[in-house]
Amino acid sequence: MHVRKLTGALAAALAVTASLLGGQAVAAPTTDADGALAARVVTYDASGSAEFRSAVDRGAAIWNESVDAVELRPVASGQSANIRVLADNGWPRALTTSLGNGTVWIGRQAVNEGHNTIRISSHELGHILGLPDRKPGPCTSLMSGSSAGTSCTNAYPNAAEKAEVEGYFGGRFAPKAGAVPLNTMIVD
Ligand SMILES: [Zn+2]
Repeated sequence: MHVRKLTGALAAALAVTASLLGGQAVAAPTTDADGALAARVVTYDASGSAEFRSAVDRGAAIWNESVDAVELRPVASGQSANIRVLADNGWPRALTTSLGNGTVWIGRQAVNEGHNTIRISSHELGHILGLPDRKPGPCTSLMSGSSAGTSCTNAYPNAAEKAEVEGYFGGRFAPKAGAVPLNTMIVD
């Protein structure tokens, strides 16, 4: 992960901004030993994701490999996470309450039809990171979701999707609004 170098004053301003945004805000950016801003940390709790837990961790790791401005990190025990990840028998879906915050369901209905669990995980996390569905679309697009068919196992965002997330989380003082509708259940 590349480190985004900022002055100490700017980093301090960012910390103040993050604290003013309140409980639903994206977690405060982390700084390295020099006080440089590294990435905004968004925590996730996959303890309710049952048999999909490793797929969820892989989906988060794929986002961490793909973008610099945000880092998905498993929540520490006893802390409340920005993202809850659950398993159920419905269709996969996501509810984004604000950029970087919400709930994801890894639905067994799609898994049973043959859709790839890591692509599902990465896709649903993409909604929480601000991306809407882009359907129908090719397998190279993560946000084309199930429209790419069960043979599609690509779990990586394409260049445009990466750039979009970098733009939302790479704002100098506060995250921008994502393109995903807020407080709306996005099915698929
Ligand atoms: Zn979707």
